[in-house]
Amino acid sequence: MIKTDIIIIGAGPVGLFAVFEAGLMKLRCHLIDAIPQPGGQLAEIYPKKPIYDIPGYPTILAGELVDNLMEQAAPFKPGFTLGERADSIEKQEDGTFIVTTSKGTQHHAPVVMIAGGLGSFEPRKPLIDNLSDYEEKGVHYIVKDPDQFEGKDMVISGGGDSALDWAIYFAEKGSFVHLVHRSDRFRAHKDSVSRAHELAAAGKMQLHTFAEVKELEGEDELETVVIYTKEEKTTVKTALWFPLFGLSPKLGPIADWGLEIDKNAIVVDTFDYQTNRPGIFAIGDVNTYPGKLKLILCGFHEATLAVQTAYKIIYPDKKFTLKYTTVQGVQGFEEEQPKETVKS
Ligand SMILES: Cc1cc2nc3c(=O)[nH]c(=O)nc-3n(C[C@H](O)[C@H](O)[C@H](O)COP(=O)(O)OP(=O)(O)OC[C@H]3O[C@@H](n4cnc5c(N)ncnc54)[C@H](O)[C@@H]3O)c2cc1C
Repeated sequence: MIKTDIIIIGAGPVGLFAVFEAGLMKLRCHLIDAIPQPGGQLAEIYPKKPIYDIPGYPTILAGELVDNLMEQAAPFKPGFTLGERADSIEKQEDGTFIVTTSKGTQHHAPVVMIAGGLGSFEPRKPLIDNLSDYEEKGVHYIVKDPDQFEGKDMVISGGGDSALDWAIYFAEKGSFVHLVHRSDRFRAHKDSVSRAHELAAAGKMQLHTFAEVKELEGEDELETVVIYTKEEKTTVKTALWFPLFGLSPKLGPIADWGLEIDKNAIVVDTFDYQTNRPGIFAIGDVNTYPGKLKLILCGFHEATLAVQTAYKIIYPDKKFTLKYTTVQGVQGFEEEQPKETVKS
């Protein structure tokens, strides 16, 4: 059993910052995340995009912000259970909780903070019979590590920001890009649409409008993508296809934990971001309240207030006096937190 003060479900930016704020109060945290690396949406969807609205950083790459948050949390030696989804929560007689993951790892703590963002996000997949044969063998729903694809010819499908942004990015890095869209009207930013047309005119991209990828071929890996319009069929020899039709958020098992849910988000009290179940908090994109904004900055604020009440639950007889970090500094933990793992 992994024992800690606060179990944080979701190692996105908000979960990571909660470790720091809890650490300042001498509370230990253990994070659980379904994906194999920390960083949430920033690491999974847009690691190379610049963010402009983090206070004190006129611009910072999403991946860099994750690295910085990890560095900021490091003195407080958080534990991580990665690549495992938090599936169930059980309240114990003494009011504490046991959270069990998809792989059976059990975690025990008096407080649980859900920082699950959009939940476990699932890509919207096109309906092609043999699609799953080529997943991660040429077909990718998310561009995680663009460096490995730079300069390679590819097909990208979609008409939103993600499809246009990556088509432009790769065409500018020397790839020849076939951009395939069902209509001739793109939902992406106007500037991106103009830039795509410029790149097509310069011979670096081919736009296939009113078109759809309907067939995939290849021995073990993807070798050919077949694009259809009403009038014609175009066969493109390529080892890469990115169907970028967006991600559909799924709250997943959390939806069955007896929490009040409104439109796929957990309802909280803005006093301390506690849910209707005492001892269970929800911070970041996963929560909702009047005036909620799904921004990293807002999640940081929520985490800071939530740990104040968490402290009172964990130490009902102690009083915590807030001191500025400029006064008290950052005193991390010397020892790793003790843990035993139980797989059921
Ligand atoms: C393209 C794009 C650009 C953006 N640009 C900006 C911007 O410029 N500024 C800004 O402030 N915001 C921006 N955002 C929004 C920002 O990314 C989110 O507000 C932020 O990621 C929320 O952080 P979070 O920690 O609450 O959740 P997330 O980053 O979503 O992380 C949640 C984590 O919880 C995990 N999880 C969920 N359920 C479970 C479970 N049951 N078990 C285990 N793990 C689970 C998920 O795997 C995920 O890793 C952008 C978003 C996108 C998609």
